[in-house]
Amino acid sequence: MSDLFYSDIAFLKRGLKQKDFSSVELMKSLINRTNLVESKVKAFIDRDDEDALRQAAESDNRRSKNMTLGPLDGIPVGIKDILAVKGQPLRCASKMLDSYISPYDAKCIEQLKNAGAIIWGRLNMDEFAMGSSTEHSAYGTTSNPWKLDCIPGGSSGGSAAAVASGEVIVSLGTDTGGSIRQPAAFCGVVGMKPTYGLVSRYGLVAFASSLDQIGPFARNVKDAAILLESIVGYDPKDSTSLKVPTENYLSILEESVKCQKKYTLGVPVEFFSKGLDIEIKEKVYKAIEWYQSQGYIIKEISLPHSDLCVPVYYIIATAEASSNLARFDGVRYTHRSKDIESIDDLFFRSRGEGFGEEVKRRIILGTYVLSSGYYDAYYLRAQKIRSLIRKDFDKAFQEVDAIITPTTPTPAFIEGEKSQDPLSMYLNDIYTISVNLAGLPALSLPVGLTQNKLPVGMQIIGKVFGESDILTIAHDFEINHDYKDLRPNL
Ligand code: GLN
Repeated sequence: MSDLFYSDIAFLKRGLKQKDFSSVELMKSLINRTNLVESKVKAFIDRDDEDALRQAAESDNRRSKNMTLGPLDGIPVGIKDILAVKGQPLRCASKMLDSYISPYDAKCIEQLKNAGAIIWGRLNMDEFAMGSSTEHSAYGTTSNPWKLDCIPGGSSGGSAAAVASGEVIVSLGTDTGGSIRQPAAFCGVVGMKPTYGLVSRYGLVAFASSLDQIGPFARNVKDAAILLESIVGYDPKDSTSLKVPTENYLSILEESVKCQKKYTLGVPVEFFSKGLDIEIKEKVYKAIEWYQSQGYIIKEISLPHSDLCVPVYYIIATAEASSNLARFDGVRYTHRSKDIESIDDLFFRSRGEGFGEEVKRRIILGTYVLSSGYYDAYYLRAQKIRSLIRKDFDKAFQEVDAIITPTTPTPAFIEGEKSQDPLSMYLNDIYTISVNLAGLPALSLPVGLTQNKLPVGMQIIGKVFGESDILTIAHDFEINHDYKDLRPNL
């Protein structure tokens, strides 16, 4: 059973069906693997192995009666600590929610449970999903499985690192400005942010509501497609959820292999200029050349407002965060200061003690840009530029089916390198943010390793609801290269 932990869903499904192994055996293999590597990787904030084994036994029981629920029956899925799972801690990696237990399931968790998945673990992240390195967690930093002194990216660093190190088969993360794609790139796995409105956010603790989306991490494109397919769909409990016909991404991928459509791919000049690491540039260009050699049409395009994405994002995201995080007041939820003299004191001290530095910085920034006298100069202006950024994409998508860029300007950096310099940390999101501002789907695909053995990610951006296109384009590259089989040496 030793290599089950690095298997993909298709292999596991077959093995479970043929009774080569049981779901309990699979779960034990993951627990053993995690016991072996977790002291190095530190991807989990919490895990309840007993509960996972109980869920696995239930799945085996269903299987023995020919009553399996769905494609994920018996497959363990790791969960970012920002998604509500009934009866489990929900801390958002913050002291503010130190002893909070979720009273209900997020919609995506309910969907996974209905598909028979085993919901396992609370995966580490930057506090309230604010960060790019997982260093802003109140429960310690996660390490990059490829190089333990490097960060795994963030904010969903635990979700990416756990998949890369064979601790979970697939996992869920969230992406507000790159928090799925950037850690996926840094850890050498597939990570996907769906179109805004495709996946319900009911039960996701809100960071920036006009940007947040839930999405999958996996070691290959097909597994990402299976997990995504299980969590999409209209949900009346999320007012931003959209009614769109659901697609069977897996069969679209299987069909695409037979009749390969040759897409037109756009390469935006702005994403390959200053500040881009030379090895990343080379790897992404090599991938573009490969597409061209296969008959894809490559077109140079321009997204002229790209340099405004970072400032616009940090105005809009902090404004929304300052409003969303107002609910953590020391009265409701968990952290309440003991040492108080008045009601104001209760608010001030509880928030002062409960939130970490980065979260406080965002709340202050957000409150400032929304304050009277500054609203027009910052927030309103940022919203106007956001429209221009969207229009840039609309224009580009009149000519191309998808857009190829690097996911990040650099490979994973050393722990501590940027944690004292918020601006250089923010600039790491330069290639991922515009996708959230425009509400588009995008995925990060591993396209090789640097000389230092750090993964490189390529971003494929799609049109609104272009999930099947970007999955197909990524899958075509993946099955013609062996990058998905590279594993860190843990
Ligand atoms: N790194 C970005 C930030 O710190 C994005 C975070 C995210 O996508 N949750 O805001």
